[in-house]
Amino acid sequence: MKNNYHKKVLLVGATPGMATIGLLYLTSYLKRNGIEAFCQIHNNHMSDDAFKANLLRLLKELQPTLVGVSMKWFQHIARGLKICEVVKSYSPSTKVVVGGNTASYFQNEIIHNENVDYIIRGDGEQPMLMLCQGKEEIPNLVYKEENQIRETAFSYVHNQQNSEEIFISDLDEIVEKDELSSFPFLYINTGKGCNQNCFYCGGSRQVQMDTFNREQPFYRSIKSVRKDILESIKYTDTLMFDFEIVGADPYNIYEQSFSGIDLKKKSGTFYSWVWPTDELIELISLTFKEAQLLIDISSLSERQRLTLQEKGLVKKQPTDEQLFQILRNCEKFGNVYAGFTCILGMPFMEPDEIGVGEEWLKNIIENFPAFSTLEFSRLHAQPGAPMLSAYEDLGMNIPALSFQDYYKISKMNLEQEVYPGLERMKYPQISYRDNKLNKTIMLHSMNIFMIMQEHNAANKGKFVI
Ligand code: SF4
Repeated sequence: MKNNYHKKVLLVGATPGMATIGLLYLTSYLKRNGIEAFCQIHNNHMSDDAFKANLLRLLKELQPTLVGVSMKWFQHIARGLKICEVVKSYSPSTKVVVGGNTASYFQNEIIHNENVDYIIRGDGEQPMLMLCQGKEEIPNLVYKEENQIRETAFSYVHNQQNSEEIFISDLDEIVEKDELSSFPFLYINTGKGCNQNCFYCGGSRQVQMDTFNREQPFYRSIKSVRKDILESIKYTDTLMFDFEIVGADPYNIYEQSFSGIDLKKKSGTFYSWVWPTDELIELISLTFKEAQLLIDISSLSERQRLTLQEKGLVKKQPTDEQLFQILRNCEKFGNVYAGFTCILGMPFMEPDEIGVGEEWLKNIIENFPAFSTLEFSRLHAQPGAPMLSAYEDLGMNIPALSFQDYYKISKMNLEQEVYPGLERMKYPQISYRDNKLNKTIMLHSMNIFMIMQEHNAANKGKFVI
């Protein structure tokens, strides 16, 4: 395949608001390797007109010959393809490359789009650099040539060794000045990938193998994580840490990552895939001004959690007592809070269980001062999730299986007058064949929403998020 040299490159995300952090890692990498790379990571242009005007302004000012579009989340497929269309209508000769989880999963469909020249599957740093340098034999590439779709070897995969080269840098040169002062937070990846196969998850091990060719998760090199922290704290007061590895205690990773860096004026949010130990909570308390741990649970009902675990549908679940103990441990320190992330509407809810989750939540709010928040969403279909091949046995109806299904739902988001935030976003929400169960779950979700609204209003400004 013959390629041109691309000295000027623009990277944008299909996700509105804060785009995925992968865009910063990628742009930083290109910049360090001699490419004039620029990215827009914080995009609040929600109306159709503002969205187009912003993109056209960037294209005019930067005159890139290559535009990279990150398509991580399936809800934004239509928005990502709209970006490609705007770029090509402004300058048909500008090359468009699409990457990210969703683009990798639906590579066969997306490459046929007339406004897409290339797809980079899986990890993108080295393939993107080689594309910019006009090289041949670029790994992980899907492209069009002589009316054929061609693919190169899927051989570039991040691991602990090569992740030393991947870190955030040069933010003041790769991001616009106004944006630099507007980051509400920045994510730092401590690890990559997952070794679990939770039945609803599009980031599960099986999907990681299919879309990233990643057999096993890994913790990134400490050196790189420290570089990320040092660069990020120049521009934000809140760091979000994500991607712990289930079964591998992250204490040493955090301890070595924070050592000698003054984070006393900063806040931290930790997506705790591993249940935090007392020792880790103490470390976080001593390191940050304040911090929040978010623990992933599959249901508010202990019985349902443990049933899902027993059936092998989700990763190991904590008992109520284990969760209460984490909240008590946080309380001892005064500046560390714990909350939960949860999906409502899981299978195996018993008919007489209505109200159990509500009571559980009210108990936590009333009796555990260290409780911060509950992040929740309804169970929905995610591309590649194990449940897409098992939904019938679980009595579910799935509204999205094919690319066209996901695209159609993402178009509903794009066609709204103002692009929706999380609360109004259209998802391929699953339902059950049992209508009584659907009604119960709907009522349960509304009740939880109202309890949390009241709690959040009463605690406004108290926690980090
Ligand atoms: S939900 Fe389960 S499968 Fe998905 S990323 Fe978390 S632990 Fe892994």
